[in-house]
Amino acid sequence: NEAEKRDHRKLGKELNLFHIDEMVGLGLPLWHPKGAKIWRIIENFWYDTHEKAGYDLVRTPHIGNKTLWETSGHWGFYNDSMYPPIEVGQNLSESQNQEKVKESEIYLLKPMNCPFHVRIYKNDLHSYRELPLRWAECGTVYRFEKKGELSGLIRVRGFTQDDAHIICRADQVEKELEKVIDFILFIYLSFGFKIEDINVYLSVRDPKNNKYAGNDEGWNLTEKVLEKVAKAKKLTYQKEVGGAVFYGPKLDFKIKDALGREWQCSTLQFDFNLPERFDMNFTNAKGEKERPYMLHRALLGSFERFIGLLIEHYAGAFPVWLSPVQVKIISVTETHIPACQKLAAEFKESGIRVEIDDAHETVGNKIRKSIHEKVPYMIVIGDNEMNAPVLNVRDRGAQETREISRASFIEEIMEKVRNRS
Ligand SMILES: [Zn+2]
Repeated sequence: NEAEKRDHRKLGKELNLFHIDEMVGLGLPLWHPKGAKIWRIIENFWYDTHEKAGYDLVRTPHIGNKTLWETSGHWGFYNDSMYPPIEVGQNLSESQNQEKVKESEIYLLKPMNCPFHVRIYKNDLHSYRELPLRWAECGTVYRFEKKGELSGLIRVRGFTQDDAHIICRADQVEKELEKVIDFILFIYLSFGFKIEDINVYLSVRDPKNNKYAGNDEGWNLTEKVLEKVAKAKKLTYQKEVGGAVFYGPKLDFKIKDALGREWQCSTLQFDFNLPERFDMNFTNAKGEKERPYMLHRALLGSFERFIGLLIEHYAGAFPVWLSPVQVKIISVTETHIPACQKLAAEFKESGIRVEIDDAHETVGNKIRKSIHEKVPYMIVIGDNEMNAPVLNVRDRGAQETREISRASFIEEIMEKVRNRS
């Protein structure tokens, strides 16, 4: 059936993109060269658009001291999703010999990047004129998932969020929220999704539950503002009571794939708690100390899940701009290999991703393999093609080849990359 054919776990193996290795650990995907190439293409696009949108990049470590997580509230409010502590103060061999730790420090694997970004902010004094600050990081986080709940790239134990935190003044909150919503929609359209493919959820707290930090006043204000912005942006959303994060309400964007299944991707969270817990300040126009607000957002959500979604959405037949290999060149016999290499070098020169199949097999076999790999273009080089002034290109899915000059073919691919198609 269609869902099985599109299954990213199956296609991930067939297209040689990634695998999950029991010896490495459950829920910890390993990316093979072709999968890592797709990741890199998305990442390049991501960094480029973020710099244009006024974000600065930051980088933070994978583990953090227990004190950090106690202050942020993760220690207490987020225990169910975190790994147990790592005691540091001796090396492995001292631990194996059951020596006593003289001076122990307690660290935790990070389930989120936020507290690290807050500490970067806290390292300096800030004025109202510097705000908003937009700090982005593709940060790998670790969350404990039960063995039985792990699933391919959708539910993993370590994943890379395309994270950012926007620290701003009260009078900037609405505009910054709107900008993030525009950014989310732009990203989805760039990957070939349509506005109709997006379902929006406004997650608010359940006032009867005590799993949330902060006071009623702060919650009422942030929930009201988030709903107002969603309305101003004309988003059709469903409200989910009890779905908020412990520090604030959020808007979640879920994409419907080709089969109509929903994938949680973007999230936009409005937070008044972390600024309070970490005593974040800036000096306002009157020279007084004021508390900023903080927005948390991820556009793709996680690279792992987003690539899983793309694999299933395109059934492995990626558009030209995302294809790890754009052109496959096949040699008929050994004598044609130098001509294949010369053509490949010309393509590479133009930034086209190309692969040669010069295996000692029949042409029919090599063509079948290339079709199976879902490469957008295939070119077979034999005696006739070696001396022909034009290329004979076979498009993905086509039965026949077409003739096109080298220059026009290169331009065609570059045009698709520019248009992200
Ligand atoms: Zn955050």
